[in-house]
This record gives sequence, C-alpha cells and structure tokens, in this order.
Amino acid sequence: MPHNIAVLGSTGSIGTQTLDIISQFPDRFKAVVLAAGSNVDLLISQARTHRPAIAIIADESKYAALHEALAPLGIETAAGRQALADAMERPDFDTVVTATVGYSGLLPTIRAIRAGKQIALANKETLVVAGELVTRLLHESTSTVIPVDSEHSAIYQCLKGEDPATIKKLIITASGGPFRTWTFEQTAKVTAREALKHPRWQMGAKITIDSATMLNKAFEIIEARWLFDVTPDKIEAVVHPQSIIHSMVEYIDGAVKAQLGIPDMHLPIRYALGDASRLTSGERPLSLSDYAQLTFETPDAEKFPCLTLAPYALTRGGNSACIINAANEVAVAAFLHDKLSFHGIYDLITEALDAIPYIAEPTLDDYVATHHATIEYAENAARKHKPQYV
Ligand code: NDP
Ligand code: MG
Repeated sequence: MPHNIAVLGSTGSIGTQTLDIISQFPDRFKAVVLAAGSNVDLLISQARTHRPAIAIIADESKYAALHEALAPLGIETAAGRQALADAMERPDFDTVVTATVGYSGLLPTIRAIRAGKQIALANKETLVVAGELVTRLLHESTSTVIPVDSEHSAIYQCLKGEDPATIKKLIITASGGPFRTWTFEQTAKVTAREALKHPRWQMGAKITIDSATMLNKAFEIIEARWLFDVTPDKIEAVVHPQSIIHSMVEYIDGAVKAQLGIPDMHLPIRYALGDASRLTSGERPLSLSDYAQLTFETPDAEKFPCLTLAPYALTRGGNSACIINAANEVAVAAFLHDKLSFHGIYDLITEALDAIPYIAEPTLDDYVATHHATIEYAENAARKHKPQYV
C-alpha cells in the first residue's frame, strides 16, 4: 500500500525536497494534500505535477488564483490557516510532513496527532513552543513521530535497537554557522546578506538566521529533550564544521554511535517517509577521503549568547520557550528587513522574557495567548532598537 502523504509547507526547502522523494518512489508515496503559505504559483505547479486530492493556501488573498487553476483538474482547493488545520483530519492520508516554518506548525500538528496520523516532523518549533503538551498528546494518541531534523534523525537512527535506559548522553553536532570564527565584536555589524550565507546547508531564510545566531542549536536541544525523553543534563552540543557527523549517542558502556552522511536533507526526509527504513538514495555517496579531517570544538556561549536559552528554557519550563520562539520570529523578520541588528535578536528575546508573564503549567490556550502577546510586545519593542551597522 502506498503511503498517502500531506505536505505542509510544500513550497519551502523541506517541502520541495519531500516532493522530490515522493516523485522518486511513485509506487510507495503519493502526495494527497499540498499546503503552502503564499507562493501560489509554485503550489499550482506542484499540484499539476502531483495531482493531490486538495491544495491549500494559508494566504486567503491567493485563493481565487488557486481555485481557478486547479478546479478544471478536479483538485479541491481551500484557503486559510483554519482550513489547513482542518485538513489534518481528512481520512485520505496517513502521514504528514510538517514543513511549515515557525509557530504556524503547532496547531496543524496537534490536530494531526489527535487524528492519529504518522508525523514526519521537520517543524521543530512545534516542540520548542509546546514540547510538554505535544508529547503528552502523543502518548494519549496512536500517532507516532519520526524526526526530519538531521541531528534528530541521526540520533533516532543511533538509538534503533538500543535500550533507552543505557543512554548516557545525546551529542548534537552543529556546523557553527557562518560566523563561527568571528569575534563577538565583529558579529555586531553582521548584515542579513552575510547571515544568509550558510556554509553547509541550503535552507529557508528563518532557520538560516537561527543557525547564524546558534538559536537553532538551542532549539534542537529542546527538541531532543522532548523527542527522546532525556533529561537536559544528558544533552550536549558540539561544533563540527564539516557537518558530516549528523549527531551521536554515547552509551553507559562508553560506546559512541554516530550517523554520517553528506549534508543533504533528502536522507532524513526519505528515512522518515520510509517508516525509519532504508530506501535507495539518488544522491552522491559520502566519500570520507574528500575530507582531510573531521574537527570538533566546544560551542562558545559568550560569542553566541542564544545558546544559553536552551538551559534557561528547559530549567524554567512552562511557557518560557514559547516566549523565546515568538520573540525570535519577530526579531528574525526585523533583522531580515534591516530593522534590527544581529545582536538585537538575543536582546529582543531577553526583553520579551522579562516582559511576558510566566505560566508554569500552560494549557494549549495559554500557549496560543503567550505566542500572540509576545508577538505584539516584540513588534513594539523592535521599533525601539536600531540596526547598529547602518
Ligand atoms: P522555508 O522557509 O523554506 O519554507 C517554509 C514553508 O512554510 C513554505 O512552504 C511556506 O509557504 C510555508 N509557510 C509559511 N508560513 C505558513 C503558514 N502560516 N501556513 C502554512 N504554511 C506556511 O522553510 P524550511 O523548509 O527551511 O523549514 C521548514 C521547517 O523545517 C522549519 O521549522 C525548520 O526549522 C525545519 N527544518 C528545516 C531544515 C532545512 O534544511 N530547511 C532542516 C531542519 C529543520 P510559502 O513559501 O508558500 O509562503
Ligand atoms: Mg538541524
């Protein structure tokens, strides 16, 4: 039986790579739901190729164009965030790839969990914002999660066949981003253009900036805490600039298992779609002789203060990571529009943490309210900052 798949965020970096894999294995996979934010032209072209049952655009102003193009082909169309979340209960698919960016992934993912779908989780923000609640919902449902994030896919692969009680440490690798060798003073003047040049990975703009500030690594520590149910003291990050080792697990007997490969997201996406089994790769293989050396460094939290937000959020718990995520979404958008400095990203997040009320045991409604209150606060606060490099 082929897997019928919903691709949330089909027009993005992970979404388009997911569709590559669906095309590569037509007997195994079929795209049944395609959903995008606002790139209606690409969504229409994807729908013409993949012939899903439904195509959904979150931006309602693009609905007429979508409907006009796809109705003659007999493809259902819908628009708006609510329609996207409602589609998670359709009975005609079994697996959803959550590849939208930021907070927008949370509510559809929760609906998919409640509907018992299999989740190929790319949208790490879902677990950053509401990890405790989402894992509780997963335990209460028949839904399962296979991570797509390369580090978490690597850990998942290293854990296969092992007793979780024998884990000593999860070791998450980090490329270090474009400013790994810069001083803190130098990064004060970083521009969006410079920050968008990631040395190893081709990704969407938001995660590329998160990689440059290293908040992405803090998010991945939080993601690992919830995905693998390990205490924060058992999760460590190490900088590995070549991005060949995607992460490691150390066991109580001293053994360390690693997963290696070229930096290419097709592998973890294919692994997640294939139910954590191995399907033939279409990409070039890893040739270790191409790498003179694999190196490792300790992450520098003085240079990249966003790294401190992982231990902060995991110790404090409650809605604190939700505040960090929302403030960061505003900060990254402002930075990309040259309205906030690179260092301003961390500053805006800490200001929001001071300003937004802490809730120790948030409900889903509390997370939603915290997100919106933080967005409003941070948008106002960002206007008081200056892009220092101007
Ligand atoms: P992109 O920015 O490339 O793509 C984001 C996708 O989400 C686009 O399809 C966009 O639509 C869609 N989208 C944006 N807002 C909404 C919304 N409100 N409702 C519905 N859809 C929306 O991001 P990436 O593919 O890089 O990242 C996606 C997720 O995967 C992120 O959470 C990221 O952290 C994670 N991830 C990404 C990796 C990568 O290599 N790219 C690696 C590991 C994790 P449109 O363009 O049409 O507006
Ligand atoms: Mg990653």
